[in-house]
Amino acid sequence: MWRLVLVLFAVLLAGALGACGEAASGNPQEDQDRADPAARPGPEARARNLLLITVDTLRADHLGYAGGRAAVSPRIDELAAEGASFDQCHAPMGMTLPSVTTLMTSRYPDETGVRRNSQKVAPDEVTLAERLADVGFRTRAMVATSVLQPHASNIEQGFDDYRVIEQEGWMTDHAIQILKHDFGKDPARGDFLWMHYMDPHQPYEAVEPFASAFDPDYAGPWDATEESLQRIFVEKIDLDADDLDHIKAAYDSQIRRIDLYVRWLLMALASSGHEQETLVVFTADHGEDLYDHNHFFYHGSSLYRSVTHVPLLFRQPGTIPTGQRVTDLVELVDVMPTILTHLGVSAAPPGVSDSGGRPLRGHDLAPTDPERRRAGRGLAFAQLAGRVYGVRTPDWFYVSNPSGFMPKSIPVEGRYTIERRELYDLRTDPREQVNIVEEHADVVQQLERVLTDWKGSLDQGASQDQDLDAETLRMLEQLGYVEDDH
Ligand SMILES: [Zn+2]
Repeated sequence: MWRLVLVLFAVLLAGALGACGEAASGNPQEDQDRADPAARPGPEARARNLLLITVDTLRADHLGYAGGRAAVSPRIDELAAEGASFDQCHAPMGMTLPSVTTLMTSRYPDETGVRRNSQKVAPDEVTLAERLADVGFRTRAMVATSVLQPHASNIEQGFDDYRVIEQEGWMTDHAIQILKHDFGKDPARGDFLWMHYMDPHQPYEAVEPFASAFDPDYAGPWDATEESLQRIFVEKIDLDADDLDHIKAAYDSQIRRIDLYVRWLLMALASSGHEQETLVVFTADHGEDLYDHNHFFYHGSSLYRSVTHVPLLFRQPGTIPTGQRVTDLVELVDVMPTILTHLGVSAAPPGVSDSGGRPLRGHDLAPTDPERRRAGRGLAFAQLAGRVYGVRTPDWFYVSNPSGFMPKSIPVEGRYTIERRELYDLRTDPREQVNIVEEHADVVQQLERVLTDWKGSLDQGASQDQDLDAETLRMLEQLGYVEDDH
């Protein structure tokens, strides 16, 4: 039913807005083909192993291949060219645990009930790791943040071995040893390794020599310390282009270091001899505002493109055609169905449950077969605190904030204004700066209805708060991560 409704939305939008391009076709034959196992790649093409790399707070357009600063991400740029890059992928929220939970369950935050970092994944959610463990995969994870700590968050469901290692160099060293000497070595079992890096999350530490190389001549008064960025936000200080670039250079320098870790992981995988049979997936939990809205740099208060637009790359040498740049609008809910289909673990088409009555909300993005690929539904949804919702099409982004909710800006109190209704024309205003809601009543009406129907179609998950001790709460506060809904 839900899928039918969305197909209807897409058709409606394509007609009414002229916007959807290759959105859901509604073609029954195409749907049949998608459900037909013969239309999928044969077992010989399937990967045996999965290496999933996620990077916290990594805004897609700061990567070199996606329009970012030159030399910020040389290895990730190569990775994008080595397989399929989905260049218009969006996260559901600007917050780590809710977005990662969506990634791992193919369900939206309102359904999982995880709308904040201080809540936890319900035991009866079915995660990617659980699906893979069910069919015999060895499942291991290393995450560089206590926000994803096991037991409290429950995000570790399905992992045989799950570790929080906050020192990312050590985490990488440990993964290199696994990749070189253990990963893919058991002929009877596939391997799944998930790595979650924390940089370039705040605070923006200028990593040398990269930061100076990116911005060698800055002589202005600003730096990228928390104090400076909080003052700019609270006092609404206008920066000139040089000042802003200096701060972004620090953020970018952290990406450059992550790029080095990615290079080492991929070298270790190559030296293991199992590169050809391993699907590599690279993405992020959310992006970063970086002064695009309300003089704010971070992410938890925002639901704009700056914080929802994330990279999404799939690589398997010899199986996934190289050099694919896909501009269809897709979401993090699409990652799990794509991985499962690619690994031959689940043949469930979108919207059909094979997980205890809980439908996966995403689509298989079919990175192996551009001919077979049907675009997503041409919509992407965002939400904030269960109070503000957004929907984007290729041409529009609409925000509905009926109660006039103002998010508690974190980590400092300041003014983060979201109007009751906002509409942006992405064809002329891709950074979503000029609210033209008064000029397009027809579009607003259509998109408001899409949002209402979408929310009505979701299962409503019950939220469960984590049991946090005082020390953990303090840590979350320092990260700017204890927030409320008011
Ligand atoms: Zn995050």
